[in-house]
Amino acid sequence: MHKIDMELVEMTLDVMKYTIDRISSTNNAIGKPKKESELKALVGETITESGIGGEVAFNLWKKHLMKANVPVDHPRNLAFVPASPTRAAVMFDLVTSASSIHGAYWMEGAGGIFCENEAMKWIVSLTGLPEGAFGVFTSAGTAANLSGIVTAREHWRSLDASHKSQKGLIITSIGAHSSVKAMAKVADIDVLLVDTEDRLEAAVLQQTINNLDEETRKRLFAVVGTGGTTNAGIIDDLDCIANICKSENLWFHVDAAYGGGALAADSVRHLFNGIEKADSITIDPHKWMFSPYDCGAIIYRNPELAKQVHSQQGSYLDIFSDEGAHGFNPTDYQIQLTRRVRGLPLWFSLAMHGTAKYKEAIERGLELAQIAGKLIEERPYVELVRDPSLSCVLYRRIGWSPDDYRDWTFKNHDSGFALVTPTKWKKGKTFETVSRFCFINPDTTENDIAMILDTMA
Ligand SMILES: *Cc1c(COP(=O)(O)O)cnc(C)c1O
Repeated sequence: MHKIDMELVEMTLDVMKYTIDRISSTNNAIGKPKKESELKALVGETITESGIGGEVAFNLWKKHLMKANVPVDHPRNLAFVPASPTRAAVMFDLVTSASSIHGAYWMEGAGGIFCENEAMKWIVSLTGLPEGAFGVFTSAGTAANLSGIVTAREHWRSLDASHKSQKGLIITSIGAHSSVKAMAKVADIDVLLVDTEDRLEAAVLQQTINNLDEETRKRLFAVVGTGGTTNAGIIDDLDCIANICKSENLWFHVDAAYGGGALAADSVRHLFNGIEKADSITIDPHKWMFSPYDCGAIIYRNPELAKQVHSQQGSYLDIFSDEGAHGFNPTDYQIQLTRRVRGLPLWFSLAMHGTAKYKEAIERGLELAQIAGKLIEERPYVELVRDPSLSCVLYRRIGWSPDDYRDWTFKNHDSGFALVTPTKWKKGKTFETVSRFCFINPDTTENDIAMILDTMA
């Protein structure tokens, strides 16, 4: 289909040069969004009957459109959960695209799926789940949570015919990620929220279950614990929650989309004790495992249960779906059919660097949070809201109103210096606006943090 002509050769070289420049530079400008009408005025019509040509289109990208994005890997982008894909993973993302692999079935994607599974074995080994546990890469944590929750619900329905007519119920805490609530909506499941943003403990969970009336208790089928809350890096009491789930006969899902990378860090691994008792676990390699977007993962203690739920039937699929004859089919364990082999960039980077480098880079994120804590304590005008947890740091600028935090964020963003966004922290019954760092990029320096804090003086 691709006729090799000069324009294509030049486009290829331009793209390679841009890619190499982009991933070699450690200080890419922090771009800013523009209104759609402003972008349109800058670039004009780009989709035309005869095409505007690769050079023109690429120049519009470089000159205008690329600058309207905030690079997630900037060392002073500490907002939300930033990212920092390795160069090796980014380069292999190009290889993944160029190889045109359909990643749903082993029959078509054996080589790519083999690599994904090698990377997955390492991730599963970090969880401590027993022999037989396995997972697949998903588009992201949201899809992983949905795949896990639906597996849990269908398993519950299979246990008792009366469950089929009931609306399922799960328990989690208000510290859980918004995607848990959003995905419960997709799956038409009710969510009961334990009112704590802090560590979800056994006693309050048990009390919550005990307080349910008989009818509601019958609808309860799962508890979602968080292995590193997105807002504050808090890890629920996974071990005790697992024990309650066992005695109450409930599915235990651990959402470690952000925190899962820290399973590789010896210094904090003990905080996750009990995760090995989970029925399913979400981990996002595109957060703290340095994969390019998008790459999530869902892991099951018993993958067979997921297969019974997610494997798609269709006469056009029969040829692929015989695992006995072919091999592992990723489509059977999550909600997508056609899929990119999105674990492939992670495999290459892991193979190239080795797992010890990953440990080191993750430990650095944890260390940066401790350094930030120390720098905050040294400055009289700021104070910690709570001790740093994983790589999240919540702190307040003494005397500031929510508007002050917002203005400060926009000022630093507008000048291209940093992106640090405020969040809210629940104290008793009220929410306080505070400032938040989340560290992922191991190239962030102590000086970066100090400079950011100095702009608050
Ligand atoms: C980020 C996050 C998610 C959602 O993952 P996406 O990859 O953004 O879809 C879910 N849970 C937690 C705890 C997260 O931090």
